[in-house]
Amino acid sequence: MAHRVSASDGGNKKTSRVRVAVRLRPYMAKEDEKAEGPCVRGLNSQNLEIINWRNATETVKYHFDIFHGEQTTQQEVFLSSVKPILPHVLNGQNASVFAYGPTGAGKTYTMLGSAEQPGVIPRAVREVFNLVNAKDEDEGWTYSIGMSYLEIYNEKVLDLLSPSSQDLPIREDKDKNILIPGLTHTTISSFSDFDKHFVPATLNRTTASTKLNQRSSRSHAILLIKIVRTQRALTYRQQMGKLYLVDLAGSEDNRRTGNQGIRLKESGAINLSLFTLSKVVDSLNSGTSIRVPYRDSKLTRLLQDSLGGSAHSVMITNIAPEYKYYFDTFTALNFAAKSKLIVNKPFTRETVAVPVMSVKRSRDEPEARGSGSEPHKKRQKEDKKPEQDGFSPSSHCQSLSEPSVMERLIALEKLMMSCQDKDRLSVLKDVAQSRKEIQELKEKQREFESKAMLLSQLAGEKSNPKEEPIFRNTTAPLQRKQPNAIKPNKQQAVVQPLQVSQLQPLQQLAVVKKQSVCVKKKDKKLSDLVEPPDGKENLKENSWESQLDQSVLEQSRQKILQILNTGSLKELKSLQQIGDKKAKLILGWREIHGRFTEVEDLTKVEGMTEKRFSSFMKANILSAMGK
Ligand code: ADP
Ligand code: MG
Repeated sequence: MAHRVSASDGGNKKTSRVRVAVRLRPYMAKEDEKAEGPCVRGLNSQNLEIINWRNATETVKYHFDIFHGEQTTQQEVFLSSVKPILPHVLNGQNASVFAYGPTGAGKTYTMLGSAEQPGVIPRAVREVFNLVNAKDEDEGWTYSIGMSYLEIYNEKVLDLLSPSSQDLPIREDKDKNILIPGLTHTTISSFSDFDKHFVPATLNRTTASTKLNQRSSRSHAILLIKIVRTQRALTYRQQMGKLYLVDLAGSEDNRRTGNQGIRLKESGAINLSLFTLSKVVDSLNSGTSIRVPYRDSKLTRLLQDSLGGSAHSVMITNIAPEYKYYFDTFTALNFAAKSKLIVNKPFTRETVAVPVMSVKRSRDEPEARGSGSEPHKKRQKEDKKPEQDGFSPSSHCQSLSEPSVMERLIALEKLMMSCQDKDRLSVLKDVAQSRKEIQELKEKQREFESKAMLLSQLAGEKSNPKEEPIFRNTTAPLQRKQPNAIKPNKQQAVVQPLQVSQLQPLQQLAVVKKQSVCVKKKDKKLSDLVEPPDGKENLKENSWESQLDQSVLEQSRQKILQILNTGSLKELKSLQQIGDKKAKLILGWREIHGRFTEVEDLTKVEGMTEKRFSSFMKANILSAMGK
């Protein structure tokens, strides 16, 4: 039986690391988008930089094994990133090449290419045949080349050469070779023979994908080329080398839809295989002896003998230059990068303002909102431009100034913090958050103090009609007014909430209550203020809402909505009647559906019946008001 040869049999011992290449594709989008300039650019053959969304004055610089700029040809990518590993496969070693990156960034172009510009797959297969044909007969080996072609979708292994087949199992033999019993394996004798099987299977997959809601962007297409060589004379040794050529699912899927989202919400990953791949690559490249979690997903299980160990692996991370890809590019680079560095300089004069102001971290707000810095003006101007002029992949049509993108960035940051440098980053986050929080509380405090003074001056006046508007006034600051005179606009509203505000809403209401009570104690209780004129003391189960001041009620609803939309697990759990399970379900719902447009959307979350919802609302609103 053919066995695999470990690298120590003459190969390079330092092969367990996954080499990472990044390929930036050229502009595909419209001219006006091009005029915005790119959000990412190469610096040299190994480094690139991207705008830091947290700070307008910084870029984040990444270092890779190789950077392919937008002018790089298919041939160049093949020659530098793929061709060098192919001879190992003929010597009984395994190799894998996979294209990673967001949908639309060029994975399929890199792997498959077009008739005029063939990609890695046709070039690699051709090269394998060339290498075999060039082998000297005198070496005494005969070679046999075969192929399998499969897809992993929803953690199911499907045979693309036999489309009617069901989910196939993955097994490991005693020599630690990974096998898929039942998978079609076709011997191929030439490149055209390969084409004959590969093209129809690929076309099948593409056709199916349009029917199945962009399935191709959520599944991993894996081509396996197996080379078995047998000695012609005694001892008739046999060796097997496997080459996996993989067009991965779009990396943006990591945080987005898919019906299994709920199941995977804790890891923040929708595509388990992709998420696990990132952990595997991370642990392989970290060089530590921590367990490599191959078994956690189908893809990594399948690639186990061809990724790490003695195998030769290359990951080509595809990225796109357009701003609408910014978030996904940033995610992809963070996944791929071995190291990154924040560089304290603007990206370019022209483009620095575009996404950054809208997503700037709150700790930078004072300068950001400081009266009309250049980037700010620029951003306002650019806002007038339609951001989504018809580019097809809906996932990329969001402007960075949209709240959902903002939330995704925050979610990304959380995800990154939970994956890498966890402690350091979370400390930084906490510090920034606390600083901002204190600042905001101080501002509120000042506002409340002045309102309180006003109230106490008016407290002597008995008439209710006057008290009500005063109460409304005292609640007004909770709406996160701009602290300076700049007219609030959409991005500022986006900038502001970030993580800091998530902590506060209900506490703020409580503060209002305290202030009001403090002022009114001599006179009336808070409840008196919000009571209807008939003066009923007890809030009844069903009518409690109608007995509250509508503005207070609305404000409380907004605060709850804000926590639902932006709160972390902990913040969600700080809500009344939301335990760990519910909080996780809310996070999961958010991941799949995006924002809750109104608090009532909460009833769409599993287990949240109308009744539970009413009780939830009542408990939260009343508790915030200290009732
Ligand atoms: P993905 O597979 O990552 O979703 P595609 O490979 O389908 O992305 O690429 C999206 C579009 O961009 C396609 O029209 C493709 O032809 C084009 N494209 C991608 N990369 C390049 C490149 N390097 N040069 C020219 N066109 C490219
Ligand atoms: Mg593709």
